[in-house]
Amino acid sequence: MKKTMFWLTAGVIATFNISVVDASVVSQTKGNFVDKFRQLDEVLPTANVYRSAAGEPGEQYWQQQADYNIKVRLDEDKRRIDAEETIQYHNNSPYTLKYIWIQLDQNIFRSDSIAERTATFNSKPDQNLGGVDKPARISLNQLRRDQFMADNELGFSIDKVADGRGRGLEFVVVGTNMRVDLPTPLKPGQKTELAIDFGFNIVEEDAVGARSGYEHFADDAREGGNDIFLLAQWYPRVAAFTDYEAWTNKEFLGRGEFTQEFGNFSVEIDVPADHIVSSTGVLTNERSVLTPTQRERLEKSKKSDKPVFVVTPEEALENEKEGTDKRKVWKFEAENVRDFAWASSRKFIWDAQGYQQGGDVQPLVMAMSFYPKEGGELWEKYSTESVIHTMEVYSRFSFDYPYPTSQSVNGPVGGMEYPMITFNGPRTILQDDGSRTYSLSEKRFLIGVVIHEIGHIYFPMVVNSDERQWTWMDEGLNSFLDGVAGREWDPSIPWGVEPRSIVDYMKSTNQVPIMTQSDSVLNLGPNAYTKPAAALNILREVILGRELFDFAFKEYAQRWAFKRPTPADFFRTMEEASGVDLDWFWRGWFYSTDHVDISLDRVYKLRLDTKDPDIDWERRRQEEADKPTSYFVQRNEAEGRKTWVEMNPEIRDYHDENDRFTVTNKQRNAYQSFLDKLEPWERRVFDRAIAEDKNYYVLDFNNLGGLVMPILLQVTYTDGTQEDLHIPAEIWRRNAKSVSKLIVTDKEVSEFAVDPNWETADVDIENNFYPRRIMPSRIEAFKWQRTHDHVSRDLMQDAKTKLKSDDDNEEENKEDNQEQ
Ligand SMILES: [Zn+2]
Repeated sequence: MKKTMFWLTAGVIATFNISVVDASVVSQTKGNFVDKFRQLDEVLPTANVYRSAAGEPGEQYWQQQADYNIKVRLDEDKRRIDAEETIQYHNNSPYTLKYIWIQLDQNIFRSDSIAERTATFNSKPDQNLGGVDKPARISLNQLRRDQFMADNELGFSIDKVADGRGRGLEFVVVGTNMRVDLPTPLKPGQKTELAIDFGFNIVEEDAVGARSGYEHFADDAREGGNDIFLLAQWYPRVAAFTDYEAWTNKEFLGRGEFTQEFGNFSVEIDVPADHIVSSTGVLTNERSVLTPTQRERLEKSKKSDKPVFVVTPEEALENEKEGTDKRKVWKFEAENVRDFAWASSRKFIWDAQGYQQGGDVQPLVMAMSFYPKEGGELWEKYSTESVIHTMEVYSRFSFDYPYPTSQSVNGPVGGMEYPMITFNGPRTILQDDGSRTYSLSEKRFLIGVVIHEIGHIYFPMVVNSDERQWTWMDEGLNSFLDGVAGREWDPSIPWGVEPRSIVDYMKSTNQVPIMTQSDSVLNLGPNAYTKPAAALNILREVILGRELFDFAFKEYAQRWAFKRPTPADFFRTMEEASGVDLDWFWRGWFYSTDHVDISLDRVYKLRLDTKDPDIDWERRRQEEADKPTSYFVQRNEAEGRKTWVEMNPEIRDYHDENDRFTVTNKQRNAYQSFLDKLEPWERRVFDRAIAEDKNYYVLDFNNLGGLVMPILLQVTYTDGTQEDLHIPAEIWRRNAKSVSKLIVTDKEVSEFAVDPNWETADVDIENNFYPRRIMPSRIEAFKWQRTHDHVSRDLMQDAKTKLKSDDDNEEENKEDNQEQ
């Protein structure tokens, strides 16, 4: 492969420039490539006194406050909670409220909820049975779920809604929401009290798939087994009332998570006396619920540099063998949190370590983990350690961890976050010899999920974005930071957070922009987690650089800590604090489904004409001589065939002796007169350019994916040296489809490469090299195997098969397991 070679003349340079201008005029007004650099202000909400044009809380910013007092009782046998709550609601808004909306998220499990009634069926046709386009399969998980939903009465029972003095209030339940009508309108600056008695049957998480619920362990030594209870979205919660949307009472459909008001909680949790409770907040009655030994260990853990068991694995194993009829009430206080969750079980091992954060905000944070024996060594080694690592990294990028506890609880939920407490799913595998092992992927899952969920305590538990509307605002930002923390833990573990991780998704066709309401997002993982995380990674490492990005990101986190940011506040802050126009970036990555594919399609190597005919015409002669000769000429020569002129030398004339590149004085005079007519400065420039005789390379780039991005160009010279050129995305501002770039160099170039380190999520690497490279890949030989369906099976032979006993089956299962 070789580069195309051209001679460069002053005239060619001029023509070349004009062609760029022409192309831009056309492509900016037609086709799909318009608007890449159009200002985002036309799309973002108009700044006002609540939210400034700088992306800051405005001078009249306000938010509501809701404080809760709750007494809750867990009925282990019935797997049910019953509770009484009072809510103090502070109206800090400038508006008078005639009613208050309350979220009843447990109602999502009612058979008449929108979520249940609109659940769609996913089935793959079984092609073996000829079901090419007919649904043919239902999973056992789906059947289990349907059976659980049919067997259990689910959703909140609301037994009382009253005001502070116990007088009943009118209320209407609307799906997962409830409107409570106030007897007198609540004026700005006033507060009111609501008292609600409620209860519900807890769902089995494994059966229904939820963010909380119970998990049953039938194999425990205790008769009837044990449960782990995870309680979240468990109390009627005041819906957020905001300056940008008023009541955020969009029905809970399962995907779009939560948006809450900050407030203070005082919660009393009444559980079997042998249970250990992990909860949002600080335990205020240690003396009534912990043994002296446990209190002593907890005290010791505050100053330890390794996790200390408050409940050891041996004690937990002993504890889970029996039960009790006695009860204990655990009391927790939590200040300035937007939600409250807890977990309870007699199976819990409990370890704790004080994280000495320093600073004024929260010098000591108790990092703690709660897990059953099934979590085993994996949890013992990595859970609390990961909790602390997360705070260390996240605080550097945002603000000091603001709460007194930071907890990781193992239960049936794969990964879910609440203030000060997270639910995380990874487990060990029990082997036949009684030992427990875990795979690298399970280890990565544990460290990764703990980092991710503890990270959520920053975003969105403190930087309180609206999850019901925008999944990416918490998941995307959090995935970006968990990627930082994961790679700071160990970059050799594949965390899936590099720009290249999003390439396959980016080039897929069935996509919606990141800026899509949570419940309508397709492919939630790549759309709301990986793509925004990759985008921010690219923004940091490629576009802004770490200094500008980290300053702006921290500014965003600090501006909006304990407040309620919208996407516009994020976009504006990042732009305003970095001082870089990023509208094209938000448009491309967040508002469109374009992908990155910059193709380097052609490189011309040009040499400046000297205008001196004795030099230039000799170059042309050489160029002509370098052209390939045709088969006709080659074969005639090979056959020894002489030309007519060769056979008859007497007919040769002047033209046979002087070729068409012969220079005459006429050209020499013209050259002299060209030099004479140059202005002195023109002559200086011309002479210097001729003397330097540099290499002029013209590179033609095409933007095949549509997403405008910087061009990270690596130049490799024939002497083996390399140079990196960073061409900002603005090169596409007048023509987003194709641009050319002139590169002038002393040295000879052997290769140009676009984004050689895969930093921009460019989906097609092949077209990034000039000259093109052979793409390495692999191929595997395979053998066709016949599939046996109901028609092609050997029925006559199969009918002779002997029926196996239960013992045979058991033996076979064992062998199967060993093979795995
Ligand atoms: Zn998350």
